[in-house]
Amino acid sequence: MTDTAAHTPDTATGPALRPAGVDYPEFLPGWVWLVGAGPGDPGLLTLYALQALQQADVIVYDALVDDRILALAPPATERLYAGKRGGRPSAKQADISETLVALARSGRRVLRLKGGDPFVFGRGAEECQFLHAHGIPFRVVSGITAGIGGLAAAGIPATVRETNAAITFITGHAANGEVPDSLNWNALAHASPVLVFYMGLKHLPVIVDRLVAAGRSADTPAAAVAEATTPRQRVVTATLGTLVEAIRTAGLHPPAIVVVGEVVSLRQIIAAGARQAGP
Ligand code: SAH
Repeated sequence: MTDTAAHTPDTATGPALRPAGVDYPEFLPGWVWLVGAGPGDPGLLTLYALQALQQADVIVYDALVDDRILALAPPATERLYAGKRGGRPSAKQADISETLVALARSGRRVLRLKGGDPFVFGRGAEECQFLHAHGIPFRVVSGITAGIGGLAAAGIPATVRETNAAITFITGHAANGEVPDSLNWNALAHASPVLVFYMGLKHLPVIVDRLVAAGRSADTPAAAVAEATTPRQRVVTATLGTLVEAIRTAGLHPPAIVVVGEVVSLRQIIAAGARQAGP
């Protein structure tokens, strides 16, 4: 696309940002773009996500999408909430998928905006399958997932050459609302040096018990990062054995990422250095 001006209205916040050298795909009417919004900080959006926000006719967004990101769309863009927050009833996945199809068929540019990355515990694949089955063209735009970007914001690296040659992303919450049955706790405790739990706060006591029972040392460094990359970000560091109590004392609430592994101990250095480098 060369004539960008026609598709890139200035927003309330200023001229659209479109650095040259990026092959911006055109957001065509009747398409759905499934886009990751990252963990919260608008600065962590991709250029494609920003483009989509500025061109969409309608945004269907989840609970974890930060208000500052929605504010980057022109004020007239329709915004449809499709998540659970503030006591509002939870939208059913089938209803969301039906809505996406109906909006696309009405010839609109539909931005399906999800927190983090759409394919990391985000049910993005299900929505793609549904769109495909209904003949709706779509594009997927990756976002920074909370399990990496959220840790980084707390000064915790996902991998460090000396400590972990692997990292495991785990959901602490299965479709039935319980800790997933399919997890091999023995393997997780022994074979994965760094464990990153999404949706892990509610069942954290069970998770900790299972890891320790399977042989993971209760002294392993552990942390929780709540509302990462937002002005409300809070970080609690402890050990696997003391994390539940530390979170309770601090009064931490979801959304939070829980991380278990030696990488947590680098926070002392990295968080301190990052502060020094700041404005
Ligand atoms: N697709 C998202 C994850 C959705 S599952 C992603 O890639 O990040 C929802 C879980 O993500 C939350 O329960 C929490 O564990 C985590 N999460 C999302 N945003 C977060 C944030 N800003 N801070 C901490 N955890 C977050």
